[in-house]
Amino acid sequence: MNAKQTKRIVVKVGSSLVTNNGEGLDHAAIAKWAEQMATLLTAGHEVLMVSSGAIAEGMQRLGWTKRPQEIHQLQAAAAVGQMGLVQVYESCFARFNLRSAQILLTNSDLANEERNANAKATLDTLLKLGVVPIINENDTVVTDEIKFGDNDSLAALVTNLIHADLLVILTDQGGLYTADPRQNPEATLLVDAIAGDPALEKMAGGAGSELSKGGMLTKVLAAKLACQTGATTIIASGHEPHVLTRLLTGEKIGTSLTPA
Ligand code: GLU
Repeated sequence: MNAKQTKRIVVKVGSSLVTNNGEGLDHAAIAKWAEQMATLLTAGHEVLMVSSGAIAEGMQRLGWTKRPQEIHQLQAAAAVGQMGLVQVYESCFARFNLRSAQILLTNSDLANEERNANAKATLDTLLKLGVVPIINENDTVVTDEIKFGDNDSLAALVTNLIHADLLVILTDQGGLYTADPRQNPEATLLVDAIAGDPALEKMAGGAGSELSKGGMLTKVLAAKLACQTGATTIIASGHEPHVLTRLLTGEKIGTSLTPA
């Protein structure tokens, strides 16, 4: 990735990062990303966020300590939690004089020609206005990202839709490791790889947590999708200080998956 030529950036944050591992929405973390986004906008970049956390926040608001199995309960939790999610985003972004917008999308919206064109036109217009779109799956009408992915594939589809140059997937891991570092102390961080390399899918395996269904595999698959429109994907830790602004000055953090 050439940081100087990177104009459009999609930043995806997963449930465990946004909610500080289920302890309610992490205002401080969201504010830190907002501050970095303000810097990136000033530097001439266009930024979109894909954020999950609606179910996790909804569970918290409903007093549920265990993620339910029943899909309609998860959808209900998402509807409750989305309210809190956008409230926190709006207030954190406003602190840095940033305007934000809520966009709820589905995979099948983007597969439909007319809806795809409408979504693209709206996002392009928001970006021209300097507004940061905050995108989540519309969990009331579909269950794709609830069942599998925690918005990783939605983030890649958005990257394709608006022809973003870079997809940054922030996670609670340092990047893609040769094995699961939580289980294998020998695991080493992969710094550079080719997006779509089938060896990565084997390496990434399954994973996921109580809080969400994301894992390294869905991130690797997202990178494969994002590279179809020429985007590089970076998987990095959301806990890394100033991760976004450092990446955009060309610093190497996490795993970079570039198109072949
Ligand atoms: N769209 C969902 C959310 O924001 C997906 C994540 C999940 O399955 O927990 O909560």
